[in-house]
Amino acid sequence: MNLAARDQQVIWHPFTQQKNMPNPVPIIKGAGTVLYAENGSSYIDAISSWWVTLHGHAHPYIAEKIYQQALTLEQVIFAGFTHEPAVRLAERLLPILPGNMSRIFYSDNGSTSTEVALKMAVQYWWNQGQQQRKKILAFRNAYHGDTFGAMSVSDRSVFTLAFHDLLFEVIFIDTPTPENISNSQEIIREYGAEIAAFIYEPLVQGAGGMKMYAPNLMNELLRTVKQSGIICIADEVMTGFGRTGRLFACQHLTEQPDIICLSKGLTGGTMALGVTACNSRIYEAFVQDDKYKTFFHGHSFTANPLACTAALASLDLLEKESCREKINWISHSNEEFAVTLNTYPPIKDVRQLGTLLAFEIVQGKDGYLNSISAVITQKAMEQGVYIRPLGNTVYIMPPYCITETELEKVYSVLLSILAGITG
Ligand SMILES: *Cc1c(COP(=O)(O)O)cnc(C)c1O
Repeated sequence: MNLAARDQQVIWHPFTQQKNMPNPVPIIKGAGTVLYAENGSSYIDAISSWWVTLHGHAHPYIAEKIYQQALTLEQVIFAGFTHEPAVRLAERLLPILPGNMSRIFYSDNGSTSTEVALKMAVQYWWNQGQQQRKKILAFRNAYHGDTFGAMSVSDRSVFTLAFHDLLFEVIFIDTPTPENISNSQEIIREYGAEIAAFIYEPLVQGAGGMKMYAPNLMNELLRTVKQSGIICIADEVMTGFGRTGRLFACQHLTEQPDIICLSKGLTGGTMALGVTACNSRIYEAFVQDDKYKTFFHGHSFTANPLACTAALASLDLLEKESCREKINWISHSNEEFAVTLNTYPPIKDVRQLGTLLAFEIVQGKDGYLNSISAVITQKAMEQGVYIRPLGNTVYIMPPYCITETELEKVYSVLLSILAGITG
């Protein structure tokens, strides 16, 4: 039996209707931006394998560091023990993170990083005897992960439909526009004294369809949030590590968060790791004689040494001048390509921030279930490019190692697909 057939006997895939599922594509190797399939086909990975890969697949520098670490210390309980990669990574992250972050709390994925942030924020108030402050403020159309707390603060959508009764209550506002901002500010002022925290994806709502919003209005909104003492949580799980053209999307803003969530690109996309960074305001509320005020949270693989080592290696590569130049170059190419795209009739809302580029296909209903996604993926793969539209939202998020030839190919494949849709 071939791999796809064996898979069909034993595997249940994420975000995938198993009934009549097309055969999954067996990938046997990755190098740079390219994924190599068992049948000899290859694909430029134009979405960084679900937004994680920064420097390319199977990067030899990161691989070597993981290998050496695996021969030295692969895992150790992180309560009562510590190790060099965890401490070193925290030492390197704190000075480059926006805001004035003072502590790093480790977990192992993006959803846990937001769960940790929400629990920190709620317990911050509880530790100070302010139990009435436990509501969470979030954006409509948000995505913060798939566990229950993360689902609660995410959009009530097709992803969460079966669980709506079980999700905790959240005050939702829209991402700011000149028309709606004063209404949102009114809501914040009215409920401010009951709101523990505001969680947001800075400037780009990823899974919600790569929706972008304006930094100046967000600054204004954040100022109102801060006036009510509300804790600000920036979920940079997708936007972190250069995707938006800056190292972190918060750096496009003047108002900084109290807590930052990281994962995905943190290890260059090689290992599972989550980080929840907080400033001293948050941290000090937990440093108390009273044992009940401890933060009782942790995961078996908290601060896994291999994952921390991968993150350190990824930072080495990210901090190279050549990588920054690549990020700038991708951003500029995308900007120019956006102009070309705007002349194509079957699309709307072409938008771009740094290495992220997105637009909507005008066909069928807007949204994740629009079946044009599968059609476009198929057409692109036939031409050697892998993209996975979110419904009718087509986007690219290439790894920074992408070459000029490869990026040109991604653009030309997109244009040829669009030409097919009009014609
Ligand atoms: C992907 C994502 C998450 C969830 O991360 P996982 O590692 O998939 O659990 C949370 N927040 C944002 C903004 C994301 O894009």
